Amino acid sequence: MTTHSFNQLGINETLCHALSQHGITKPTPVQQQAIPLLLKGRDVIAKAQTGTGKTLAFALPIIQSIRTDKQQVQALILTPTRELAIQITAEMKKLAAVVGAKVLACYGGQDVLAQVKKLENPPQIIVATPGRLLDHMRRGTINIGPISFLVLDEADQMLHMGFLDEVESIILKTSNSRQTMLFSATMPQQIKQLASFYLNKPEQVDIQAEKVTVDAIKQQVIETSDRLKQSALLYMLQAQQPFLSVIFCRTKIRAKKLNEALQDAGYMADELHGDLSQAKREQVMRKFRDMKLQILVATDVAARGLDIEGVSHVYNFDIPIDTESYIHRIGRTGRAGNTGEAITFVTAKDMDKLAAIEKVVGKKLPRTKLESYHLKGLFQADLQISDDKRDNRKKEKPQDRTKKSNQPINNKEIKVKTEAPKKSKTKSNPWEITKADLDMAMGIKNKTPKKQSSREQSRTRASKNEGRSGGRSNGRSGGRRGR
Ligand code: ADP
Ligand code: MG
Repeated sequence: MTTHSFNQLGINETLCHALSQHGITKPTPVQQQAIPLLLKGRDVIAKAQTGTGKTLAFALPIIQSIRTDKQQVQALILTPTRELAIQITAEMKKLAAVVGAKVLACYGGQDVLAQVKKLENPPQIIVATPGRLLDHMRRGTINIGPISFLVLDEADQMLHMGFLDEVESIILKTSNSRQTMLFSATMPQQIKQLASFYLNKPEQVDIQAEKVTVDAIKQQVIETSDRLKQSALLYMLQAQQPFLSVIFCRTKIRAKKLNEALQDAGYMADELHGDLSQAKREQVMRKFRDMKLQILVATDVAARGLDIEGVSHVYNFDIPIDTESYIHRIGRTGRAGNTGEAITFVTAKDMDKLAAIEKVVGKKLPRTKLESYHLKGLFQADLQISDDKRDNRKKEKPQDRTKKSNQPINNKEIKVKTEAPKKSKTKSNPWEITKADLDMAMGIKNKTPKKQSSREQSRTRASKNEGRSGGRSNGRSGGRRGR
């Protein structure tokens, strides 16, 4: 039996109407399974990968069941990061407004006193990060004792961020009669334990990771070395012209350094990781959402669960620590039926991890080896170009660039290719990267080969790369690669 509407799951007409106004009409699998259980008052432990709609799975039953005539905190949603707290609050507010419920986000970095003021009129729903919530509990500004609904969202991430002790001390302050729901993309042992401790005969919802989601994403692997990785990334960025991309690094320091290098190379890039101030994190996310940035250099934790539309490329500058992180990272692209590309850079020591990833995605990923001779010419062009760019930058602020987004920032701009490249009628621009250039660079043997050197011929075979791009200038110039 399949259910086709939220209404059939027990969601009322008012909320269904509000959902449909946001284009949401068909429940996702986790919503189909969790919503009826939650409306029945059951505790639920739900495992479903990122991007499967877990937020609405808990938000809808809560909003429908909340008592709007009572001005007290009735639902508490605990989430690991400020960004998620903001995102969930925004999503819940849209729906809460139609039933007349209030939602408040509560996370570190905000002005506590301003928040205390807001809490004088308690909202029915609070979305909080554990640290800030405990802070309010100590001050006596939030009383979560009487809550009826407790959500532990992205529970595995709270574990990875070391929040479990805080989460437990929060749970212990709530009433035993609460309904508890735990949502997580993965179920590590400690999370199962937490659930068995604090959930009351929970129903399990387990949505198997859909291979399809990943299959919609074009994946490839670039073999390189630690020394050449950065050049290899610059090379791929130049070749692929990503519209909006997220680049994942293993550590905060690596993210910071890489961001600096990308900015120096003229990209509109910024970094997102746990070392940044709250204001800065919000600013970066806003700029990225508004497409004033093209590249977000992030650590796993910072980018976890973020729902950003239009990410065309995910680059795993550092291979993820496990296969689940791989799925989550590449899940930042190809969202909501869009296509996306995921590029993973590997060095010799990453081969075990790569093998594990290939096992999970169920296929061998196409590999391309980028070696120093591939990158040399590009790198020279880079240095030269980034000097030009520095001069330009003095005259032009980055915002100016985005406004006239398709305009070259200097006369050596690469012509950006569109999804369906037409045969160029005009004489080719020397700075345009042609399909042949790309094929050559990516080691694809051409059907109608130009004269190729033996070195070129020996290059590894690889997936074809179309150099797709969303038609937005990336403020980037390119030279022909040295041959
Ligand atoms: P998760 O928490 O599982 O990572 P989210 O709840 O953030 O996923 O949802 C991911 C995206 O999917 C959001 O943009 C959300 O608005 C959208 N979405 C959720 N449910 C539906 C649905 N039933 N139909 C269409 N889009 C949906
Ligand atoms: Mg989520």
